[in-house]
Amino acid sequence: MKFYSTADKSNLVSLREAVLSGMPNDNGLYMPESIPRLPESFFKSMTSMDYQSLSFEIARQFLSGDIPASVLQDIIHEAINFPTPLVDIEDRIKTLELFHGPTLAFKDVGARFMSRLMAYLVKDSDHKLTILVATSGDTGGAVANGFYRVPGIDVIVLYPAGKISLIQEKQMATLGENITDLKVDGTFDDCQRLVKAALVDPDIKKSLMLTSANSINISRLIPQTFYYFNALRQIENFRSRSIVISVPSGNFGNLTAGLIAKRMGLPVQRFIAATNVNHVVPDYLDSGKFEPKPSIQTISNAMDVGNPSNFSRILDLYDSSWKKIKADIQGVYFTDDETRQAITSVKKITGYTLDPHGAVGYLGIKKYLAQHRDVDSGLFLETAHPAKFKDIVEPVIQDTVEIPKRLADFLNREIQTHALSNQYTDFKEFLLTNSN
Ligand SMILES: *Cc1c(COP(=O)(O)O)cnc(C)c1O
Repeated sequence: MKFYSTADKSNLVSLREAVLSGMPNDNGLYMPESIPRLPESFFKSMTSMDYQSLSFEIARQFLSGDIPASVLQDIIHEAINFPTPLVDIEDRIKTLELFHGPTLAFKDVGARFMSRLMAYLVKDSDHKLTILVATSGDTGGAVANGFYRVPGIDVIVLYPAGKISLIQEKQMATLGENITDLKVDGTFDDCQRLVKAALVDPDIKKSLMLTSANSINISRLIPQTFYYFNALRQIENFRSRSIVISVPSGNFGNLTAGLIAKRMGLPVQRFIAATNVNHVVPDYLDSGKFEPKPSIQTISNAMDVGNPSNFSRILDLYDSSWKKIKADIQGVYFTDDETRQAITSVKKITGYTLDPHGAVGYLGIKKYLAQHRDVDSGLFLETAHPAKFKDIVEPVIQDTVEIPKRLADFLNREIQTHALSNQYTDFKEFLLTNSN
């Protein structure tokens, strides 16, 4: 299958080019040439398939022309190696736990799949591939761990100094070897701007084979569709239910993957775009106007995004029709106070501990269900384990959050990072002097 740029549909490239370049030169984002609709038989048998076979069937729709089936099987077995259980929270509300991977966030799914796909695509190349990743907290850890010790690939992670938690910093900046970390004196949007500038800089292209590992890379989006299917598979008689899924969102990669799953035929009635006070997408859904803004810091910091990179993909999926987009997505946003209250009340009533991101998702579905009595299955994505945000969660629930062992192991390691200004000239110099 070929991939086109959202900025110019006639700009078609191969899978290899789309994945390794990360982003087209015209500032668009790559999208699959077509989104295959899965046959009726697939949905009938979904309940009896295991998660990996299900993932293989979905991945094959996009990749079978480029990746041999046996290689794709191996990639899926290595990447999709942890469960995404659906857990009951309260009447009509369940959560899809996406935090059972190595860095305890849903980004492990995309990062693990992308790393193995890229390793396959560069295995015969004599140039080293350098991956740039801007992170607001969780992507960096997932990508760094996904690529750690993958031969032929170096990773450079950029994160905003002082705006991520110690745990997040430990997860991304303690590995060494093929992983380099830069703490940028600025915001996540600055980090993202630096990465985007480097990717299209002809001087850098001369000496480095560069790509990005942000949610702008299409190879992260494809595996994120898998768990939407896996979620519905766990609902009894899912085909005859009305199902709404609330997605706590920042760059909107997760939600875009859900929309792609729906386009493939997954019977989701609607998605909720749930954000914190960085609400440019809920505003767009309300007014029809998309107005990027500087990001505001919140307790759900992985969603502190003022100019969501996947928005152009959402527009593309719906031919830029505000009306069509509104039919499939409802927007809603919440303050930090509301988020804290949700964590408190869910803990008190059900005993379940939400993380701040999942709490935004919970609030989204809760509000929607109150207004829509006909919806019988409300889901929200729990995108991170609460232990990753224990500094925020513990004072709110007035209890301790148990730290899983794989997280405790990171905490004992030493941070190795370089400070960088938010000026592109400094980043460029760093790349050119460290390129050999
Ligand atoms: C990245 C992230 C999000 C936002 O996901 P997007 O795909 O960028 O919308 C939400 N929650 C957590 C914990 C994250 O790490």
